[in-house]
Amino acid sequence: MFVSDNLSVNEKGHLTIGKVDTVELAKDFGTPLYVMDEMMIKEVCKSFKESIDKYYDGKGLVCYASKAFCCLYMCRLMSLEGMGLDVVSNGELYTAMKAGFDAEKICFHGNNKTDEELEYAVDSKVGRIVVDNIYELERLDRIAKAKGVTVGILLRIKPGIDAHTHDFIRTGQIDSKFGFALETEEAFEAIKKAIACENVKLRGIHCHIGSQIFDVDPFEHAAAVMLDFIAKVKNELNYELDELNLGGGFGIKYVESDNPSPFETYMEKVSKVVKQKCSQLNIKQPFIILEPGRSIVASAGITLYTVGGIKEIPNIRTYVSVDGGMTDNPRYVLYRSQYEAVVANKANLERNKTVTISGKSCESGDLIGENMKIQDIEVGDTIAILATGAYNYSMSSNYNRIAKPAVVFVNESRAHVVVKRETLDDIIRNDIDV
Ligand SMILES: *Cc1c(COP(=O)(O)O)cnc(C)c1O
Repeated sequence: MFVSDNLSVNEKGHLTIGKVDTVELAKDFGTPLYVMDEMMIKEVCKSFKESIDKYYDGKGLVCYASKAFCCLYMCRLMSLEGMGLDVVSNGELYTAMKAGFDAEKICFHGNNKTDEELEYAVDSKVGRIVVDNIYELERLDRIAKAKGVTVGILLRIKPGIDAHTHDFIRTGQIDSKFGFALETEEAFEAIKKAIACENVKLRGIHCHIGSQIFDVDPFEHAAAVMLDFIAKVKNELNYELDELNLGGGFGIKYVESDNPSPFETYMEKVSKVVKQKCSQLNIKQPFIILEPGRSIVASAGITLYTVGGIKEIPNIRTYVSVDGGMTDNPRYVLYRSQYEAVVANKANLERNKTVTISGKSCESGDLIGENMKIQDIEVGDTIAILATGAYNYSMSSNYNRIAKPAVVFVNESRAHVVVKRETLDDIIRNDIDV
């Protein structure tokens, strides 16, 4: 009935998430409100791990890409689920360390890490720093030397794969700000340099070809290209790379017409390519790292809003204004992302109206979506936007000095706050009052 199968309708006709009544949640915690289904997140983690056990003899690690949704509670949950973690800034790393995350299982990414971030990562004993460029490699080697330690690294490679997704979330092609290009020998030269560095240990290579990718082919292709490169390094430099990090980017279902391949299929096909290639090229099977972000949390989350004004503009469109918008969900503004909307207190009725849902910021572009199918809607109704668990809270802002919503996790039939709603005092917290 809805895009995520943890959503249902109860006897009152209200939308439920993980068996909890969303209208009650809106009443108890206020709106706008992010709600995440903890059971669903755990199940997805389990299925990722089981697929690696089944198709790749368990020789791998799933690192949750925390940029999709990061807070102390989420880091603790990932730790309990036996996941690794992917971080992209000292803020994400700090959150992970405060949550007691095992640093050996952390990958530190980013195309422009500062010295401060590199030092923090080294001091925290992060297992793998994913080096993006030569300048960073040199700085990291120097920092590690000064501290008298050796740090594990992966090199970020652009495999030259053009995945079919939005331009801003494609990252594997040569025209990308991330990583070393294969085509130009830049990557090979970087490998030589990394091997020669005294205070870094080159553990392997990394690629991430984009996000919200539905097909398995580009991932198979990327894996094959990366393994050819591992063989070249072995043959020409006599150096064996132990690890292959294939990144994340697995697509999820935002709207009914989305049809992503199940992760199980991905793992089955990609493992086959890896095993075949390894025996063909006479290299050992690498330890595989995967970095799903969106696919771990997107479907588990919804956002609840209260409907304010409704404006019917005859023969043009109907605007339905909600008490949030681009400040808690900038994805429509950034990518024209599509979502499904449901009137949570009328979830049993048919969605036979077409509306534009707008936010409350002073921007005409502040929309949650256009031409959205929804039930007959009135002022005061609760609207649920579905599949907002990834890149919503983490991309939220305080534009117009709007306070960020709370995040509530539901687990079976209980609900608890994991991130408090911001207050007006939070809004002026860093202002200097002279
Ligand atoms: C964003 C990102 C991911 C996660 O991508 P999803 O599409 O959320 O799965 C993984 N690895 C790297 C390096 C990334 O930048």
